[in-house]
Amino acid sequence: MPTPTYNTSSPVMVTGATGYAAGWIVKSLLEKGFTVHAPVRSPNDPAKVGYLQDIADQSDGAIKFFKADLLDEGSYDEAMKDCSVVFHTASPFISNVKDPQKDLVDPAVLGTKNVLNSANRTDTVKRVVLTSSCAAIYGDSFDTLQAPNGRIDESVWNTSSSLTHVPYSYSKTLAEQSAWKIAETQNQWKLVVVNPALIVGPALGDKPTSDSFTLLIEFAKGSLKAGAPHLEFGAADVRDIAEAHLRAAFIEEAEGRNIVFNKTISVMEMADVLKTKWGSEYGLPSRQMPKFLLWLLGPMVNSAFTRKWVSRNVGHNWRGDNSKAIRELGMTYRPVEDALIEMFEYMREKKLVD
Ligand code: NAP
Repeated sequence: MPTPTYNTSSPVMVTGATGYAAGWIVKSLLEKGFTVHAPVRSPNDPAKVGYLQDIADQSDGAIKFFKADLLDEGSYDEAMKDCSVVFHTASPFISNVKDPQKDLVDPAVLGTKNVLNSANRTDTVKRVVLTSSCAAIYGDSFDTLQAPNGRIDESVWNTSSSLTHVPYSYSKTLAEQSAWKIAETQNQWKLVVVNPALIVGPALGDKPTSDSFTLLIEFAKGSLKAGAPHLEFGAADVRDIAEAHLRAAFIEEAEGRNIVFNKTISVMEMADVLKTKWGSEYGLPSRQMPKFLLWLLGPMVNSAFTRKWVSRNVGHNWRGDNSKAIRELGMTYRPVEDALIEMFEYMREKKLVD
């Protein structure tokens, strides 16, 4: 079984530490006694960084905040000084955007170049762990079935997304491709990529910005009461995603891309999990919405539900191969069902749902 070795003698850096997934990465690092350098956009805003400082205060580790922005060339240099490992997680995960180039692709791609170029200037850096996504592997559920052996694996790249069709997935694809290009030009640090599918589970802060919360918020508003689309995703608990990052960083032999998810779950199955605890309280869907209805009405309800998107996603199974991360990172998984219940409980507690 591959085993991580934690050497806490030098600091490590986490970009986007204020984020949903990154929060759990930072917490795990602090609990192991690391000094975490956290370059963020708002280092002096207690609402953004206060809970991370509280976690650090109760741990064996320490956290230092720095000011940086994905779009400001060189702004990660100061935070990266003396670090042995760089976790690059910062990248917008939002679907409701006006200008996909400016709002998604630029921060994802220029940010990746910016952070990795800083790594090239910082000779203490020996490993970079990039948070990519399964979105860099497939664009639409339909693509997963077209992949070799009828499921996506690490050899597959997303070729169906664009600025006008699932632009978030396009931004993640271009960003990961940029990272591999830069990695190949040097031999100071090793790039290990984590490709999570949908991340679920509670957040650590009070106001998560991640699109992971969007579907559950729609559930809580009763928006899918009339019926849920037949959509499937790979999914994993956010704490398992954090563990995958630490394993990618501290297992000597870790390499390449690593698809990380526990199981495939549909929107309807997610609703059924929540219903075991909250019954009919939130108008959770109890039936599937026919595809033709979504095809007809989707574009009027949400600009992301184009007819092309409905055709290529709704009613198709989602199939992925998670065996590499189990074999090479030693991943084990918590139940996705428990993560969903905890996520909804968290959302109730933080008044994100009424
Ligand atoms: P999130 O909570 O919204 O985190 C995004 C982070 O990126 C935030 O810390 C945000 O900082 C930072 N960021 C955005 N634009 C920035 C900029 N211009 N300069 C500096 N920082 C910027 O989303 P998440 O779900 O945790 O996503 C984290 C990573 O996981 C992303 O790379 C995402 O693509 C990847 N991922 C997520 C999922 C999922 O299901 N959630 C699945 C696969 C991969 P602020 O706090 O300042 O806004």
